[in-house]
Amino acid sequence: MLALSANGRLPKADYAIFADTGWEPRAVYRHLDRLEKEIAAPAGIPILRVSSGNIRRDALDPGHRFASMPLYILNQDGKQGMTRRQCTGEYKIKPIKRQVRELLGYPYPQRIPKDIFVEQWVGISTDEFHRAKDADVRYMRNRHPLIDLGWSRTDCVRYLSSLGLADTPKSSCLGCPFHGNAQWRHIRDTSPDEWQDVVEFDAAIRQGNARANAGGNRLLGQAFLHRSRVPLDQAPIDHVTAAEWAARQQELDDRAPMEEELENGVVDGCSPWACRAEADLVRDDFGLAS
Ligand code: SF4
Repeated sequence: MLALSANGRLPKADYAIFADTGWEPRAVYRHLDRLEKEIAAPAGIPILRVSSGNIRRDALDPGHRFASMPLYILNQDGKQGMTRRQCTGEYKIKPIKRQVRELLGYPYPQRIPKDIFVEQWVGISTDEFHRAKDADVRYMRNRHPLIDLGWSRTDCVRYLSSLGLADTPKSSCLGCPFHGNAQWRHIRDTSPDEWQDVVEFDAAIRQGNARANAGGNRLLGQAFLHRSRVPLDQAPIDHVTAAEWAARQQELDDRAPMEEELENGVVDGCSPWACRAEADLVRDDFGLAS
C-alpha cells in the first residue's frame, strides 16, 4: 500500500506506521530501511516507528509487566493448552493508537471530538477478506484499499516484483509461536545466530514468563514455542515420513487446514486489526479508547 500510494495508484498517505515489537528478524528491519529510503522518503511519506518495548526482553524480565505471547502449554496432567495472546494488542495496537492520538492532537487521556478521526488503511487482500474489520475506536476508521482494488495476494506479489521487491520478508516476531515449520526452518537454515536466539528464548520461557514466576504465580506446566510442545532445537520441524509425504502430494490441492498451519504458520497470524484475537482487542482498549 505504501508503494501504491507513493506511485500515485492510491491517494498519498499522510503517514505510514510501523509498530516495532523490538524482535523482528533482521531482514525485516533491513527491508523497512530500504522502503523508507527508496519509496517513502522520495514520495514525502514519513514512516513513523512506534513501540511499546521489546517483547523478548520483557518476557524474560521479572520486573516487567508482560503481555503474553500465545505459547503452547503442556500441563502436568498431560493436557495441552495455550496462553492467551495479548502481545498483538500491547506491542502493535497500543503504540499505533497512541501515535494516532498524537497526530490528531489529542494525546491520551484527552477526549477526542466525535467528528475527528483518521482513515487507517489495513493491507488485507481479497483472498483474506474475512479478516477485514472495523477499528474499535471512533477516532480511527479502517479502509482496505487492496480489497477495493480487487487485489489478491498474487497481485500484490506481482506488483512488488515489478518494483524489485520480490524478496519482501514476512513481518512477525522472530520467535512468534504462530510460525509454521517452513518459517522455523528458514530461520535455522539461513541465520544461525537468529536460530540460536529463538532456541535460547524457547528454553528460557519453559516455566512461563518471568514476572509471573517472580510474583509466585507459577505456570503449572511447561511452555513451548513449537506446537509439538517439544524444545525448539528438538522439535520435528523437518520431519516428514514417506507415508506423510505421499499423502501430502495427493492432498496438495486440498490441503487440510491443520497441515497447512503446521507448515506455514497460523493463517490469521499477527496483524493489527486483522487478527483472530479481535474479540480480546475489543474487550481491552488499553486505556486508549476515546
Ligand atoms: S508476531 Fe507473534 S509474538 Fe509477535 S506480537 Fe504478533 S502474535 Fe505476538
